[in-house]
Amino acid sequence: RPITDPIRPQPGIMEIALYVSGESKLAGRTDVLKLSSNENPYGASPKAQAAFAAAAGNLHRYPNTDHAGLRAAIGEIHGLDPDRIICGVGSDEVLQFITQSYAGPGDEVITTEHGFSMYPILAHAAGAVPVEVKEVERRIDVDAILSAVTERTRIVFIANPANPTGTMVAEADLHRLVAGLPGDVILVLDGAYAEFAEGFDGGASLVDTYPNVVMTRTFSKIHGLGGLRIGWGYAQRSIIDVLNRVRQPFNLSVAQMEAAEAAVRDVSFTRFCATENAKWRDHLRQALVQMGIGCDESFANFILARFASAEEADAADLALKAEGILVRKVAGYKLPNCLRITIGDEDACRRIIGVLATFKGVR
Ligand code: PMP
Repeated sequence: RPITDPIRPQPGIMEIALYVSGESKLAGRTDVLKLSSNENPYGASPKAQAAFAAAAGNLHRYPNTDHAGLRAAIGEIHGLDPDRIICGVGSDEVLQFITQSYAGPGDEVITTEHGFSMYPILAHAAGAVPVEVKEVERRIDVDAILSAVTERTRIVFIANPANPTGTMVAEADLHRLVAGLPGDVILVLDGAYAEFAEGFDGGASLVDTYPNVVMTRTFSKIHGLGGLRIGWGYAQRSIIDVLNRVRQPFNLSVAQMEAAEAAVRDVSFTRFCATENAKWRDHLRQALVQMGIGCDESFANFILARFASAEEADAADLALKAEGILVRKVAGYKLPNCLRITIGDEDACRRIIGVLATFKGVR
């Protein structure tokens, strides 16, 4: 039979702009310093690595479907009710459960100008319409979000701290946002970088105060387990019950759960990663500002370096590549004059400062 036109997918699917991940390779180089995906420069906790290795003896067993051990550990360490926690394959999967469960064709999902690129992807995949709200100088504007709410709004997505800007919405503004939302609109507080913002609980207390707030978290950043894919969400019981209905029963493997449980329990390693990150983040930011490169205060494990123009940002990217350093171009986030740089260890920070100082002609 002749091949006909492509078979039509569900509405919205062809609107999806494919996700672009940070570059990981440079042709002809083996000494690449990868600062393009907000990975943990200290790796995963040695205890998590040992737990992962030990899981090898159990690969013939199906994993438990309720993630009870992992949820208990997360609950214990974060002071949360384990029955109000759900685990997923990265926080991406938890974000997918939420969108799939609460938004459908004709519904609107609010995201912001420089918001994480998965939000519109998930909205389209559910057949819903992503509505993008302007930010003010790379900061989420609570009033603009509230003005964008219509009768069709089902979900509002914000990351706090935000990626790729690194900025944060203040606690008081978060309260104002939830208080201003209709009670049947879900506010998703994406706390992928929450551990890097000193003293911030990721929004857990807001979840406890307002029934329509959901917090999502990840093991990919502070716990250095991006390669293993584990995330979780915290919400009121009735929402968790809904999300568990769309979750595949065996979504997490034995190895994922064992490693994640060991990682979350290794509190001193977690603290070490957060402290080092804060130290080198401030150091790097100060160095960039002294060179005349714009840089907002960041609350995450990266900074957004702001150049005078898109051309200068592209040239800086090439200068970094020439020295084997990969950072993230964020033109797709409507920030063509910016480069997002993951905070590495001391050596990585000194290396990047050296290259940028030469690039700017200030050394
Ligand atoms: N939210 C934000 C804001 C992110 O930057 C990321 C990682 N790029 C994620 C969620 C998803 O992370 P993961 O699926 O690895 O948990």
